[in-house]
Amino acid sequence: MGEEISEACGIFGAVSKSSEPVFYYLYWGLLSLNHRGQQSYGFTTFSNGIFYKDEDLNLIPTDEESVKRLAKSLKGSVGISNARYATSGKSSIQHLHGGKQPLILGKKRGRKIAISYNGNLVNVKQLRSKLTEKFGKFTTDADTEVLGRQLLLGLEEYRGDFSRAVGLIMDEVEGAYSTLVIDEEGSLYAFRDVHGIRPFCFGKRGSLYAFASETPALEINNILSFDYVRPGELISVVTRLERKVLRRGKRNAICAFEFAYFSRPDSILNGTDKPVYKIREAFAKSLAQEYANKLKRNDIIISMPETADDAAYGLHEATGIPWERAVRKNRYVTRRAFISTKEGRKGVIEKKTNMVKEMIRGRRIALVEDSIVRGDTSKINIAKLRKLGAKRIDVYVTFPRITNPCFYGVDMATYGELIGSRFSDDEIAKYIGADSLNYQSIEGLVKAIGLPLSSLCLGCISGRYPTRTAQRIADRARESFSKGLDEQGRVYER
Ligand code: SF4
Repeated sequence: MGEEISEACGIFGAVSKSSEPVFYYLYWGLLSLNHRGQQSYGFTTFSNGIFYKDEDLNLIPTDEESVKRLAKSLKGSVGISNARYATSGKSSIQHLHGGKQPLILGKKRGRKIAISYNGNLVNVKQLRSKLTEKFGKFTTDADTEVLGRQLLLGLEEYRGDFSRAVGLIMDEVEGAYSTLVIDEEGSLYAFRDVHGIRPFCFGKRGSLYAFASETPALEINNILSFDYVRPGELISVVTRLERKVLRRGKRNAICAFEFAYFSRPDSILNGTDKPVYKIREAFAKSLAQEYANKLKRNDIIISMPETADDAAYGLHEATGIPWERAVRKNRYVTRRAFISTKEGRKGVIEKKTNMVKEMIRGRRIALVEDSIVRGDTSKINIAKLRKLGAKRIDVYVTFPRITNPCFYGVDMATYGELIGSRFSDDEIAKYIGADSLNYQSIEGLVKAIGLPLSSLCLGCISGRYPTRTAQRIADRARESFSKGLDEQGRVYER
């Protein structure tokens, strides 16, 4: 898509039972997850009863001086970290500062926790008002504080029994939450919502235990064998690692969009036996079958870099049509450049890629995209291909048409912003300027992922959500939207 759709967060945590400092494990782990959140980053470590913390907006720093400074200040053999994109709360600089994770909560003397999580809470409004009655006004508008306070509430109610407190979260909090916590004794805990919506894995090397959103964050730390935090599971590392599934959801529901767009191509997501890039190749092979006749009209394949590259390769393998790598990313043109240029958003999208006109002129292009969310980026890129002389442009999209918002941590939270909920396929093709638009079917997607339909979240493409409140809110919001009523903010925050 070339479009930048954002994920709530990437999380990484580590504990060394031989008292080795963990900062560098945290640093490398989080750096390999920076694609999951670029608005802010944070590290919290713990040593001798003290939490040490460092955080800021934007990307994780990579210059030597900053890294040395972080290593010096973040003491301890246990730590958690977070690279965040906000899918709750406001997005002014002040609010982004307030929402940075990990968040430290609790009393000076008494229960205290540091918490870092990836996901999004659905029944956040109800929880917020209940917890305000109990603890007073919230200090941030981010839902990390809601999850953290709910945990503190359970710890108070069950006299410090962590397992029962997390069980209470699983009973009362609806949504996606892959979570890491350090308590005031320096113990590390990991738990995941009962549907396992966002990815979460862990591994061990010697006396080092590490937890991460995706497997490359373990591999970068030389942890080469790993397992997954199961849906509804709590893993504690107090003296040794102990795991227990506390609650079972009606079904598992890992986010299908992770496979098409978010996760790194070299990740292995739970339940699958192959890396994400192989699944993206399989998406394209399924497209090749579905649109075999249409593809005969095309003489080259082009992908909008880089998340569609693996699918473009798969399409080339399946059809024999040459994959021309004629579109290249201008790597250092970032979204932040929007603010500083006079051309605005459109100009910067154009500048993000360079297209080699000699390879495009007169060609009938099969353009591979991983997904179309708002459609603006496709429109700009297709106009550019036309300007360079493309004779025909047929778009093949590996993720089915997105028609519904996401409640679980992907930043598409209204019906109105989704081109797929407003227009038919032909209308979208017309809007983006393509000769034809060819989406993957839901069946093709599921088959290529290789997991049963019943263990995936497909909410944004099917309108059927794995959790009850999300379904209720979505049904209501869809009805008002179809009546032309104005949407006011994110569906789950109204
Ligand atoms: S609604 Fe879509 S983007 Fe959100 S978790 Fe489900 S599959 Fe993923």
